[in-house]
Amino acid sequence: MEIRSVAVIGAGTMGAGIAQVCAQSGWKTNLFDAFPEGLERGMKTIDAFWDKGIARGKTTAEQKQQWAANLHPVSDMSEAVADVDLVIEAVPEIPSLKHQIFADLGKMTKANCILGTNTSSLSIEAIAQASGRPENVIGMHFFNPVPIMKLLELVKHDSCSEQTIAFAQAAGMAMGKTTILVKDIPGFATSRLGVVLGNEAIRMLADGVASAKDIDTAMVLGYKHPMGPLALTDLVGLDVRRDILLNLKQSFNDDAYTPHPLLEKLVAEGRLGKKSGKGIYDWSSGSAEETELP
Ligand code: NAD
Repeated sequence: MEIRSVAVIGAGTMGAGIAQVCAQSGWKTNLFDAFPEGLERGMKTIDAFWDKGIARGKTTAEQKQQWAANLHPVSDMSEAVADVDLVIEAVPEIPSLKHQIFADLGKMTKANCILGTNTSSLSIEAIAQASGRPENVIGMHFFNPVPIMKLLELVKHDSCSEQTIAFAQAAGMAMGKTTILVKDIPGFATSRLGVVLGNEAIRMLADGVASAKDIDTAMVLGYKHPMGPLALTDLVGLDVRRDILLNLKQSFNDDAYTPHPLLEKLVAEGRLGKKSGKGIYDWSSGSAEETELP
């Protein structure tokens, strides 16, 4: 099936990036968020990304104009998804919220529309069943920042059809991504390792093993990670990582995934990482600066 139009649900860190890449792929892209300020922020993020690309000579004003013409902010979900070939959901990592959205999507979309979820850790089968047509649902796990990161982790569950997998692989390729196919086991092949590393780095920070920068530098220079686990936690969002840990803790019934108290404290104080200006680091200057921890 050819892709002509896409809807993205949730215009936050991930939804905005996914919508941007969809628009750049030449698809009519409807971006929806339940909150007007969320939708506005998402559109601004995309615009700023394109402007930065022009300023750096990576793209042109004409190219931006073409991409922008494909992108439509829509404030009504049923209108956003009614006639599209693919929906990609990127709302917060809360099981009941995702299940409700997929129950709605099952009723609001065309019968052959493919439904992707960007969940980092939740059961795809459970989300798929909520839609009423699980064969059309697949995990489409993108990475942050979506326009730059090459990986698209596709997660298949028992009821997922071969056509849906083939469709998602073709969509990923059209978006310039490399896809991997992973079984529906909480945390998949990526988040499970990623959150444990980040949580342990926070524990080390709280224990006073080294400064945030030195812990990050240890992994960058010692293990060739492109970015340290603390800076990456700030980039992903501390609330997002905390929610993933809690979901894994519940799914595996294993306390090893308990979010460290320092992570909980930072989230409670609204220090959510780069998106809120401050997390483990202070990002107000645009780059990661050491700052006092609670
Ligand atoms: P975010 O908090 O930045 O954005 C979520 C957006 O969803 C917000 O704009 C919010 O207003 C909107 N929203 C809330 N309820 C909604 C509803 N009912 N309908 C429509 N929109 C609604 O979160 P995020 O970081 O973009 O994460 C979204 C999903 O992507 C989560 O499942 C997360 O686990 C996953 N994910 C995140 C990352 C990351 O690095 N942040 C990476 C991979 C996957």
